[in-house]
Amino acid sequence: MRKATKAIHEGKLECMDFGQVSVPIFQSSTFSFPTAEEGAARFAGTQEGYIYTRLGNPTIDALERSVAAQENGYRGLATASGMAAITTVYAAFLGKDTHIVSTDCVYGPSRTALETIFRRFGVEATFVDSSDARNIERAIRPDTALVFIETPANPTMRITDIAAAATIARLHGIPLAVDNTFASPYLQRPIEHGADIVIHSLTKYINGHSDVVGGMIVTKDEALYARIKPVLNHLGGTMDPHQAWLVLRGVQTLPLRMEKSQENAARMAAFLKQHPMVTWLNFPGLPEHPQYDIAKRQMDGFGAMIAFGVRGGLDGGRTVMNNVRLFTLAVSLGGVESLIEHPASMTHAGMPGTARVEAGIMDELVRISLGCEDIDDLLEDLDQALNAIRTDGGDA
Ligand SMILES: *Cc1c(COP(=O)(O)O)cnc(C)c1O
Repeated sequence: MRKATKAIHEGKLECMDFGQVSVPIFQSSTFSFPTAEEGAARFAGTQEGYIYTRLGNPTIDALERSVAAQENGYRGLATASGMAAITTVYAAFLGKDTHIVSTDCVYGPSRTALETIFRRFGVEATFVDSSDARNIERAIRPDTALVFIETPANPTMRITDIAAAATIARLHGIPLAVDNTFASPYLQRPIEHGADIVIHSLTKYINGHSDVVGGMIVTKDEALYARIKPVLNHLGGTMDPHQAWLVLRGVQTLPLRMEKSQENAARMAAFLKQHPMVTWLNFPGLPEHPQYDIAKRQMDGFGAMIAFGVRGGLDGGRTVMNNVRLFTLAVSLGGVESLIEHPASMTHAGMPGTARVEAGIMDELVRISLGCEDIDDLLEDLDQALNAIRTDGGDA
């Protein structure tokens, strides 16, 4: 099946076939065993069958199969949130006296979790600008147990060469995990480039309607799946069947939404590039983006996230956010509605100021997520909000 067909048909249940077209919600916390012997066999793993929803559930399985198929991976593990997926992967590979190499400009909490919670458990972390893969190689130590990259990265839109990172990780026998939230499997499938584990916040493009929080881990093979599954089951950050059903509904239109959103983003990037109130622009689809060639090679499209700087620094950015009428001032991304936010005071406020600037997250950086509205309405809205800088804000 091709991508758009997979998004709609993969994961549909074959069991209990009443001819249903949509996957039913199996809203049951526990499952009965036909006999004591069969119950024991399910626990022993010698017989297929459900036991308890934290360990497995048909609706959740359908979603896991769908996303794993779209990523060309072995299997998926659905989680309560994207952060549950990330911290479960951390916990599966990291422990006392181990070390992780991570992209510096990752989703804020992915970094904070390492610097606070995992540090308390004796894990050390080195954050590097992984857009130059040699920085990953330089940071690897004998005790490095995981390489974690995010590409495109939040919120700078820096791109890491997945194949180059995978080659380095493989050479050292270390698994490579990729946060693929910004691209979605429709635009980028890290396992095809050598990654071992793919992580998603389903909250974003995969669900796509700003109404569910969820996450997913997809592994390349069975051994990695078997290593992560018990960690997820014991830490308990698993998904609920109703949540899985909502995401199954959303994922079917991922290709349509992604095509529209990225077409809107390309138009918006061209508009912002020539706008007098915009000082710089990071969008991987522009040939002047420093990793444009890598993005072109490893992605099927450039996505729908744009980061830009405005005249007047932080005040200018605040003016834009307070003057938009159609863009919604909110964190998150990947929904059908276009959003705008300010990472330095919102999503990345947990990072120390110097680390933030080192990671390229400037005070004046404004991040937008293009949705599926008519582009002319979006252009008019941002234009009037940017022009408000001239009258109300900043030193422009
Ligand atoms: C939102 C996000 C996360 C966290 O996901 P939640 O579903 O909010 O827990 C992780 N990584 C990236 C890139 C994100 O955008």
